[in-house]
Amino acid sequence: MRYCTKCVQPDTRPNVFFNEQGICGACLWEEEKKKIDWTARRQDLASICQWAKAQKAPYDCVIGVSGGKDSTFQALYMRDEMKLRPLLVCSEPCQTTEIGAKNLENIKNLGFDVITLSADKELLKQFFKKDFYRIGNPNRASEYCVYSSVFIIADKFDIPLIVNGENPGQTLGVYDMKAAGGDATQIWASNTVKEKVIDAYADDGNLEALFLYQPNMTSIIRKGIRGVWLSNYVQEWGQLHNAKFSMRHGLSIHPESMEPYAKGLYRRFYALDHSFREVNQLLKYIKFGFGFTTDQACYDIRDGEISRDEAIFLVKELDGGCGTLYITSFCQLIDIDEGEFWEVANSFRGKMWSEEKGKWVLDNPIWEQEPVKGTYTVRDIMSRLSI
Ligand SMILES: [Zn+2]
Repeated sequence: MRYCTKCVQPDTRPNVFFNEQGICGACLWEEEKKKIDWTARRQDLASICQWAKAQKAPYDCVIGVSGGKDSTFQALYMRDEMKLRPLLVCSEPCQTTEIGAKNLENIKNLGFDVITLSADKELLKQFFKKDFYRIGNPNRASEYCVYSSVFIIADKFDIPLIVNGENPGQTLGVYDMKAAGGDATQIWASNTVKEKVIDAYADDGNLEALFLYQPNMTSIIRKGIRGVWLSNYVQEWGQLHNAKFSMRHGLSIHPESMEPYAKGLYRRFYALDHSFREVNQLLKYIKFGFGFTTDQACYDIRDGEISRDEAIFLVKELDGGCGTLYITSFCQLIDIDEGEFWEVANSFRGKMWSEEKGKWVLDNPIWEQEPVKGTYTVRDIMSRLSI
């Protein structure tokens, strides 16, 4: 694996790009952000908002909300800064976490109309299982529902504008979304959901059963419904910024007692809203050789929150961390045993892994390429960062 020379992003993320100096697309976006005229960008967004208001729909925009940090910021920004009347849409996860449910209640109490879409959970579980066996990504069916929900509601109520959070072409540095800029209607070309729903799931049920999995894009285009990614227009958009902002408006995060090794997390404001995220991140680690800690450390390096040396330490310690209880609970959800889980998971194991004395080890990981110089503990870094 080759890593970005600035952050710790590996070249195994699907569709990630690097420049000739070995800098990843997400770090290049950070550089690009310094040159952007953000006043002009804000004006661009304001013009789109004015256009949306002029359509005289019952709501000016639709915003997808979960129980996480980004949706609270998006909703308040569009209402209070852009003066729009948003309709919030929640695509309910198959299993909601306690914190996620609490945060959703918090958003409702901030004074918004909210519509919840809840796809047939029995069918969802079938798709989780199918995708786990077929592509090693059990969460994909939920992502179809989440991505679709805002489009379906915008179409249904003729709401002119869809507001999404971040363009992964910018914040993760993947090339398939880079050209989309601020246009969130391009989300359907992204790697996770580019396979047509009919091809992915139609043999498990008829198309009517998949109504909540795909929007009618012909209708969306005909009606001229637009979509924006806020990361393209709002300078302050960022993981840490959104977390701090949303906490000031009532967002709950994981408690201080959170176990970093079991969650693969050292930041307490990620993975709030969704029940088997830990397993999903473990599977990502098995497939691509990096997990959730890498993602967090990349954001934190770019925000100047941690040093590269600390990032490498955290990745070495925590990446791929997933407590047995999360695996057990996932196995119960899709009705398989743990032996079967590991057999399937290992069938997706990437080429960057080797088996040594019955244990899987990464070949030449970043901590062997650049050994950690300082002496740290995860708890010390967590206390310094505070959230
Ligand atoms: Zn980078």
